[in-house]
Amino acid sequence: SASNIVVLYWHRTDLRLHDSPALHAALALKPSVFIPVWTWDPHYVYRARVGPNRWRFLLECQSDLSKSYTKLNPKQKLWLVREAPQTVLPKLWKKWGITHLVFEKDTDPYARERDEAIVRLAEEAGVEVVVRMGRTLFDPDELVSKNGGKPTMSMTQTEKAAEKINRGQPDRPLETPKGVPDPWGKDKMNLSDLEHEIADPTPDLNADHRGSKDKQYSQIMGPNNDFGVPTMEEIGIDPALATTPHRGGESVALKMLADHIANEEYIGTFEKPKTSPAAFEPQATTLLSPYLHFGSLSIRKYWWDVQDVMTKRRKAKQPNTFVPVNLPGQLLFRDMYFAAQAAVGDPFARVHGNKIVRFIDWHLQSKPPRPAEKDEDAMEDDEEALPERDYEIDSPEAEEWFQRWKTGRTGFPWIDALMRQLRSEGWIHHLGRHSVACFLTRGGCYISWERGAEVFEELLIDHETSANAGNWMWLSCTAFFAQFYRCYSPIAFGKKWDPNGDFIRRYVPELAKFDKKFIYEPWKAPIADQKKWGCRVTNDDSAAGGQSYPKPMFDFDKRRQICLDSMKNAYDVGLHGNDEQVLDGSWRKL
Ligand code: FAD
Repeated sequence: SASNIVVLYWHRTDLRLHDSPALHAALALKPSVFIPVWTWDPHYVYRARVGPNRWRFLLECQSDLSKSYTKLNPKQKLWLVREAPQTVLPKLWKKWGITHLVFEKDTDPYARERDEAIVRLAEEAGVEVVVRMGRTLFDPDELVSKNGGKPTMSMTQTEKAAEKINRGQPDRPLETPKGVPDPWGKDKMNLSDLEHEIADPTPDLNADHRGSKDKQYSQIMGPNNDFGVPTMEEIGIDPALATTPHRGGESVALKMLADHIANEEYIGTFEKPKTSPAAFEPQATTLLSPYLHFGSLSIRKYWWDVQDVMTKRRKAKQPNTFVPVNLPGQLLFRDMYFAAQAAVGDPFARVHGNKIVRFIDWHLQSKPPRPAEKDEDAMEDDEEALPERDYEIDSPEAEEWFQRWKTGRTGFPWIDALMRQLRSEGWIHHLGRHSVACFLTRGGCYISWERGAEVFEELLIDHETSANAGNWMWLSCTAFFAQFYRCYSPIAFGKKWDPNGDFIRRYVPELAKFDKKFIYEPWKAPIADQKKWGCRVTNDDSAAGGQSYPKPMFDFDKRRQICLDSMKNAYDVGLHGNDEQVLDGSWRKL
């Protein structure tokens, strides 16, 4: 007895089949026709900063999911539709006679706005919408409400709020579906009669690494009219630019998780501050963050698999570490930032209008956004444009420092190794992120955390707006954390973890032959040794007569003192991102 239920399942933050509350709800409707889609949203394509590594990781997650669907039902796959959801979904539900639209809840500011519009359109069209949470341990909105409606600004607050939800326990994972219904037949699935609309994608923040925009999404079903996963070429990226060794997909994620879980000693004694930022192949932490980002790993499964190991160890009287340094604590950190962002909304990832962020008079500072024009046409234009922040500089060196930080040419090998690992692989250890973020902001360059967060947004394969902006505020001591007198040394910190400098040798190969005595401070090595080790420390490449590595771009001890004094002063002035003087620029007169 076939139902008349036709479900459009909209994948976004959930590129998985296991433990998906939304997918579970969709299948519980017992549809006669089931169509799982991904819509290539121009917002993601053009306005989010996405480097080649994350592009490829996403495509791999999609391919893997598509194959898993086909395994469940040979007629199925992930149907990739190239157009903005706001314009394409109404066309799809008309063409395919959709009765129900189902998706996972997303509390990111852009997603909320988009989804509200979609829900309105669906209601107008008589399509029922089903939304389920599944991206975090707890619903961020619920955490906020249990935190008195306020942003969660500490782990203590987050733990207390979680305690009020279900004694701090997320729901147990749901079963993976053993089958899915068919889509429509070939003829009805065909969309070639639909008009294809592409919003004008200017400005294209990804133009740097992507070719001509005209080339893209020329057909709603893709170049082969088969709703296939795009190739790197289709989205205009040279595949050679995607150098990360990390592979995307639910199958990879589940295998990685299972391998970690099998190592019960590792799970039970995991203490984040004791894991080394200099470890590579393998890295010291789980590297599951990119899978959580794309939803190819369920965070609840991760949490419960860890919890079950810890319970077993407890029963066997083996020690476990505690929140927040253990793995459940790490996962709760992620929820803390999600909930903080859910409460603050759109200004969370920037300074202006953000009530939780301290205002600092950085050398390189974002300008207040241009006031929106009153006239309606102009307002629309404004919505289309604006993503690129304007910056102003009060120090001639700051822009150069920023560029050198970004490209791994600061002359501090520890920082450069990390920034080069970030660029080539898309992932660096948490304490490595601490090092480079502190160095760019309050512990060296005195450049706004927004600038750094943009670079991370482009380069990280695990980029998550809430975690990225939240951690950048933390490290720059502008929110969440305030001990600005505690600063990471670009020399001593790395040396403590890796006295031999193996991490530097790997990612800054020109220094590979340096004696460990000089590897963190190569500018101190005698010229004769530099020659012997095949690399001159100089800013004048032509004089090097071969390999060279730059001199440090400043005297770190001097810069640290300047930063400390400036931070103290800014804290005394005590402005926040939503204060008048910040919004109108008059802070300069204070
Ligand atoms: P593990 O140590 O194995 O931890 C397990 C999981 O816990 C992670 O996968 C992650 O989901 C979560 N987690 C751990 N620490 C944090 C944290 N501080 N904040 C949020 N979640 C955490 N993480 C992102 O997922 N996306 C980002 O864009 C991001 N940007 C960051 C920017 C800066 C400046 C800093 C200092 C940290 C950032 N982090 C971000 C947090 C953290 O560095 C990564 O989550 C972690 O290094 C991922 O590696 P892992 O999976 O091996 O972590």
